[in-house]
Amino acid sequence: MTRVGSSRTKDLRGQKFGKLTVLEPAEARPNSTNARWLCQCECGSLCVKDSGKLKISPNISCGCYAREQGIRNLVQATRKHGLCGHPLHKAWTRMKSRCYCPSDHAHRFYIGRQVCAEWKDDFMAFFTWSMQHGWEHGFEIDRVENTGDYSPDNCQWLPKSEHHSKTATEQTGSKRPRPANTRVANRTVLQ
Ligand SMILES: [Zn+2]
Repeated sequence: MTRVGSSRTKDLRGQKFGKLTVLEPAEARPNSTNARWLCQCECGSLCVKDSGKLKISPNISCGCYAREQGIRNLVQATRKHGLCGHPLHKAWTRMKSRCYCPSDHAHRFYIGRQVCAEWKDDFMAFFTWSMQHGWEHGFEIDRVENTGDYSPDNCQWLPKSEHHSKTATEQTGSKRPRPANTRVANRTVLQ
């Protein structure tokens, strides 16, 4: 049977901390005397926690609480602030402006291009798709087929420099073929 840290360690079996119920002692970390415990979370997952952590965190869980909280905060922030300051909100506004706003300096390159119905009136749909499809700070949205619209099946996020060299080629009308469209291939596999 696994030794419960030092002999002074209190037996926590059966006790409940936050969402966790302590099941049995777990092996201590190498070079540590902190007792650790195998716990079962209310969500059903098992996890191992230090005694110290169990006692000081009132909302302790396997990690599901933090995940839920993160989603809740995002939803709340969206309700409250509409995520207006988020870079993706700017990207969404700019995308629509390019397509539909004749006074936009880039509009001449986008005449006839559309933003799909899914994204056009629903920033959260665009936001969610972007988060799931490789958006990072400094990335720009790219239409894979330059003649296609802004839609999930024709868009990808590219690093700014890569995107600029691609659009420069497209806008000067150069027909230099791309050797193999590996990004599109990868994307298809991922879906
Ligand atoms: Zn859990």
